[in-house]
Amino acid sequence: MSQDNVYKQRGVKDLIQEDALHYQTSVEKFLYIAKLYNFGIIETPIFEKEILFKRPLGADSDIVTKEMYSFEDKGGDKITLRPEGTAPTVRAVIEHRLYEKLPLKLCYFGPMFRYERPQKGRYRQFHQFGTEVFSEKSPETDAESIIMAHDFAKSLGIDMASTTLHINSLGSEEDRDKYRKILRLFFSSRFDELSELSKMRFHKNPLRILDSKEPEDTQLIAEVPSMLETLSKESREYFERVIDIIDQNGIKYKIDKCLVRGLDYYTDTIFEFKSDFLGAQSTFLAGGRYDNLVNLLGGPNLSGFGWAAGYERLALISRLAPPKNVLIAVLSDEPKSAFKTAQFLRDHGISAEIFVGESFKHLLKKAFKFDPNYAIFIGEDERTKGTIQLKNLAMKTQKEIKLDEVLKNLD
Ligand code: ATP
Ligand code: MG
Repeated sequence: MSQDNVYKQRGVKDLIQEDALHYQTSVEKFLYIAKLYNFGIIETPIFEKEILFKRPLGADSDIVTKEMYSFEDKGGDKITLRPEGTAPTVRAVIEHRLYEKLPLKLCYFGPMFRYERPQKGRYRQFHQFGTEVFSEKSPETDAESIIMAHDFAKSLGIDMASTTLHINSLGSEEDRDKYRKILRLFFSSRFDELSELSKMRFHKNPLRILDSKEPEDTQLIAEVPSMLETLSKESREYFERVIDIIDQNGIKYKIDKCLVRGLDYYTDTIFEFKSDFLGAQSTFLAGGRYDNLVNLLGGPNLSGFGWAAGYERLALISRLAPPKNVLIAVLSDEPKSAFKTAQFLRDHGISAEIFVGESFKHLLKKAFKFDPNYAIFIGEDERTKGTIQLKNLAMKTQKEIKLDEVLKNLD
């Protein structure tokens, strides 16, 4: 076995050069949008106590049943590498009593860990951008968060015409219980048609069947009674107000009666943004409202609304123009003048690479590897006169100027 195979891990990815730059640029875009929507930032640890995820995510959720990276540390504590960002954020909100000053709008980004079968858009370590809003529950908050998600995707150069917002409402807990009963009735009459996995889900939580990716279940799921019809009048009106605002903002949406989301803590509005270009892993951003999570983790009765987007899926559909980056190769036959010139450029926000040697032809050949926009030549002549030769490499023009004139001579 080659060294390469010994050390290589499944489901993880090195972000190198352009890819790392794309991630950093996406972080900048995310923080810019977050600022426009008046969000603060939160950074929680990468590992937490296992119980923080086990309880709220639901004992039969995909994450808890098979995807958590859990281990016992040297002190005997059960630790989990965070699979998602909402539970840690809520833990911090409670721990630091951040709920005392509402509304509270927080965003986060960073690596998440899930033990999954790696495939396109699915990794074991991936990155999420996420937001959480804690405030008085209102359809306006839901709609605004969804609009913000849309703005964020747009800012990454994603073609929004090829994305669709799928949206649904789970209603209150009572609504959900009522719907579970309806689903049990529906599926019990067609039990034999269900996949083996869904037969198990039927007993534990029939709502999960709607999330099934088993081909045998597709037809049956398409026929299930709509969740929206079981909603109370209050829940339905709430949902209609969310839809109304989204519609008015020109966001293309589809009411998706089978949308349930994989985690237990959601109530009322739930949504996913999907792209036509992503194949099987078409959801790149997802979230919803959670009424009981803060309470469940020992905090007050406080409702929240949040979403998270997977960076690796965003990257597959994001089209960001490369940043305009002026790089000047400073070619000099003497280090001091090269360093002085490079310092001047860097002080003015322009990248510079230094090449020192006597053969300018040879230096320029080396400099081309960096793909600079300009080259500056400083020979003995220029040093005596206190000038530089500035060459525009695209236009193939060259002029002799003073160093402090360089900025106004750049395109
Ligand atoms: P899926 O149905 O694809 O497994 P999920 O419901 O488990 O998604 P969420 O927990 O809602 O996903 O996470 C929000 C987003 O994080 C997803 O829409 C996706 O973009 C991203 N994501 C989730 N799991 C992974 C993964 N293993 N690799 C890469 N991105 C992921
Ligand atoms: Mg998943």
